[in-house]
Amino acid sequence: MKVPLADLQGQYRKIKPEIDTAIQNILDSSQYILGKAVSQFEEAFASAHRVKHCIAVGSGTDALHVSLWGAGIGPGASVVTTPFTFIATVEAISLTGATPVFVDIDPHTYTMDSVKLEALLAAGPGGNRPPVRAILPIHLYGQTADMDAIGSVAQKHGCCIIEDACQSHAAKYDGKFVGNFGSAAGFSFYPGKNLGAYGEAGAVLTNDDVLAKRIRQLRDHGQSEKYRHEFEGHNYRMDGIQGAVLGTKMKHLEEWTIRRRAIARTYLTLLSGVGDLVLPYEAPKAYHVFHVFALRTKRRDELQKFLAAREISTALHYPIPLHLQQAYNHLGYRLGDFPVSEAVASDVISLPLYPEMTDEQVQFVIDNVKSFFKQ
Ligand SMILES: *Cc1c(COP(=O)(O)O)cnc(C)c1O
Repeated sequence: MKVPLADLQGQYRKIKPEIDTAIQNILDSSQYILGKAVSQFEEAFASAHRVKHCIAVGSGTDALHVSLWGAGIGPGASVVTTPFTFIATVEAISLTGATPVFVDIDPHTYTMDSVKLEALLAAGPGGNRPPVRAILPIHLYGQTADMDAIGSVAQKHGCCIIEDACQSHAAKYDGKFVGNFGSAAGFSFYPGKNLGAYGEAGAVLTNDDVLAKRIRQLRDHGQSEKYRHEFEGHNYRMDGIQGAVLGTKMKHLEEWTIRRRAIARTYLTLLSGVGDLVLPYEAPKAYHVFHVFALRTKRRDELQKFLAAREISTALHYPIPLHLQQAYNHLGYRLGDFPVSEAVASDVISLPLYPEMTDEQVQFVIDNVKSFFKQ
C-alpha cells in the first residue's frame, strides 16, 4: 500500500464531470480573468463563512499583502506575527514596507501566544522599531488562534487584526467562522490546501464595506472603472478557470472537512499513548479543520525515514522557524529568542491526512507508526 501526503488526482477523478463542465464553460465564454465564475465563487465563499465580502485574488500571498496594504499598513508601522508559519505570512508584511515583529507560539496549539503578545505590546516600541499597527495571527494547521485574547490585546493597543486563514477554510472559533475576527482575512487556494484551485489562487474576506471596496480596486490597478485609476494598485486578479474550479469544489468543502475531522479523530484515538508522541491539541473553542495533522516526537527524523521506506509520505511544517532564516537576518533575531517555535520546529512531523484517504490507508499509517515505536 502507498500513502501520499495528499491525493489531488483521486479527488479530481471523483468530481471530474462537474469540473470538466465548469472549465469548458470558461473556454466557451472566454472569461479568462475574473468574470461570472469568479464572482459566483466570491459569493459562495463569503456566504459559507457568513462574511459580507469576498475579493478573489491570485494567491494566498497576494491576499495577505493586499489586506495589509488596503488597511493602510506600510512604512513606519510594525506588524506582529509568529515565526512558526510559512514565509508568505511575513513576506506579505515586508512587501508593504512595514517591519515584521515576531512573538512566540503557544506550546499546545502552536498559534500566537496571546500572553507574550500582550507583554510585547505593553513594552512599547523598542530601539528603532516602528509602532505596532497590526497583528497577523495564523490559524495554523487548520486550527484558529486564540481570538478572544488576541482581539482584546488589539483593541487595548489600537491595532487592527488581519487573519492568516490560508490553512483554515471554514474553520471556526467559538462557533464563528474564520474571516470574522479582524479587519480582513487572507485565504490560499494552493492546490494542496483544504480548498484547492488548479493553479494559483487566493481570496480576502472582510465585513468592512470601505476596506472591501479599496481591496477590490487595489486588486485591479486601482481602477474604479475601465482606465480610470484613483490610485495605484497591482494585478491580483483571479483567473476565470480557477473561479470555476473553486466554485465547483466549494460544494464539497463541508463533506471534505467532516472526513478530515473523522480521520483526525481516528489518529487521535489510536495513536494516543504511543511512544513519546505529542498529538495535536484541539482548543476548547476551536473547530479544527485539520489541513495538517502534526505530531511531535524526539525521534522525528528516524520516524520519517521509517515511514518513507514503507511508502508513507510525511512532511515537516516547518523545520526552520522564520527568525532563523537567512532571509530575516536583518531583523536581528537569534537562536533562543523564540524557544517554543524552535522546539516545535525541531521535532514536528505531519502525517498524511486528506479526504480521499481510505480507512485502510489510515490504519496502515497507524500500524506503521506503532511498529516504529515498538522496535
Ligand atoms: C499557503 C500559505 C500561504 C500562502 O499561500 P499561497 O497561495 O501559496 O501564496 C500563506 N500563509 C500560510 C500559513 C500558508 O499555509
